Amino acid sequence: MNTNNSKIIYEKAKKAIPGGVNSPVRAFQSVDKEYPIFIKSGNGSKLYDEDGNEYVDMIGSWGPMILGHNYPQVLEIVKKELENGTSFGLPTKKEVELAELVKSCFPSIEKLRLTTSGTEAAMASVRLARAFTGKNKIVKFEGCYHGHSDSLLVKAGSGLLTFVHQDSNGITEGVVKDTITLPFGDFEKLKETLESEKDIACVIIEPIPANMGLIETKKEYLEKIREITKKEKVVLIFDEVISGFRISLGGAQEVFGITPDLTVLGKIIGGGYPVGGFGGKKEIMDLISPVGNVYHAGTLSGNPISVAAGIETISILKKNTEIYENINTKTENLINQINELIKKYSIPASVNHFGSLFTIFFSKEKVDTLEKAISSNDEFYSIYFDTMLENGIIVPPSKYEAHFISYVHNNEDMEKFLTGTEKTFEKISEKIKNEEK
Ligand SMILES: *Cc1c(COP(=O)(O)O)cnc(C)c1O
Repeated sequence: MNTNNSKIIYEKAKKAIPGGVNSPVRAFQSVDKEYPIFIKSGNGSKLYDEDGNEYVDMIGSWGPMILGHNYPQVLEIVKKELENGTSFGLPTKKEVELAELVKSCFPSIEKLRLTTSGTEAAMASVRLARAFTGKNKIVKFEGCYHGHSDSLLVKAGSGLLTFVHQDSNGITEGVVKDTITLPFGDFEKLKETLESEKDIACVIIEPIPANMGLIETKKEYLEKIREITKKEKVVLIFDEVISGFRISLGGAQEVFGITPDLTVLGKIIGGGYPVGGFGGKKEIMDLISPVGNVYHAGTLSGNPISVAAGIETISILKKNTEIYENINTKTENLINQINELIKKYSIPASVNHFGSLFTIFFSKEKVDTLEKAISSNDEFYSIYFDTMLENGIIVPPSKYEAHFISYVHNNEDMEKFLTGTEKTFEKISEKIKNEEK
């Protein structure tokens, strides 16, 4: 496969942009590639690079593209909306419509604020929790990602895990001190912490972690977290930036039947355009300025284009509930066949999945902790990435990310994926045999 144009663009990119990319995982460093592929366009389930190669897209812009690229109805609405002007710095009727639509899907959200990114929404929700409780510290879980604001970057999953260091430089000791990180899945540690430390404002969690690779959550674990945060008067924040509208219309909280105090949203609610949102109980949300004293603002918050695309995307999901059945069944069938291939080639691999999200870990053991994700085989993952790319499938360029299946992935895409997977496993099995000799 010829990717020469990408190589040339990357050489230029490195001189103008740190690392040549605007988000670290895009650089393909962790899968040992010299340069990333530069995307020229996307359509349906496909991406096209600057050399004209076609790929089946398993990334879906990391979540937003649940309907695939350029879904006709969404595209049409956006084109229409563009004609009306793209940013006013004044409120629009559509923002109210999107807020009402989100509320109708998430009963825990009584009021909602929109932002331009998930990062801002998570950051603002933590500030709000601090204001509401009058407490300072926050609890997050190792490997969970909540965007790149200072307090939430401590031990924060994919992007950071990919580049060895688990914490970012440039964060003050004070911030690190106020962020307590605990292992995901260990309820006893959380209980001890909440019972002994009385200055905790909130617990923030990805109810279905998808930023250390996908980890399958147990309902009882989340139930216990809900119980203890209620008892200790700590705000429980569900970061559903990925799981919201992906796992079901009402996100993980609907699937597990758990009501958080605040919810962070993003990705799908902007239909592929820049967006974020956070919402929850009235008495907490009404602390936000201009009603209360917690400042939150944004020049492009509730941007008309993002909002129009979000309304259309959510409306389509709401009207056609068979979409969830479709993507979940497709994913399950695919994983059953991957598991067959794992057996056939005796590959030390296991697949985690939830709805239309999945991660292949090159680990014999089921991966249910960050440690196990870290110790899964990097070299095999790179072989997987490479082989898939050569066969026209773009999978996550990091073992700490999930694959995203969309409504428009078709049988042919799935067949192609399985062919690539089989070729990958042939190579890995050959390699294992040679090393045994
Ligand atoms: C992507 C993501 C964010 C950050 O959203 P951005 O729009 O990239 O700032 C926050 N939380 C989770 C769980 C995410 O997956």
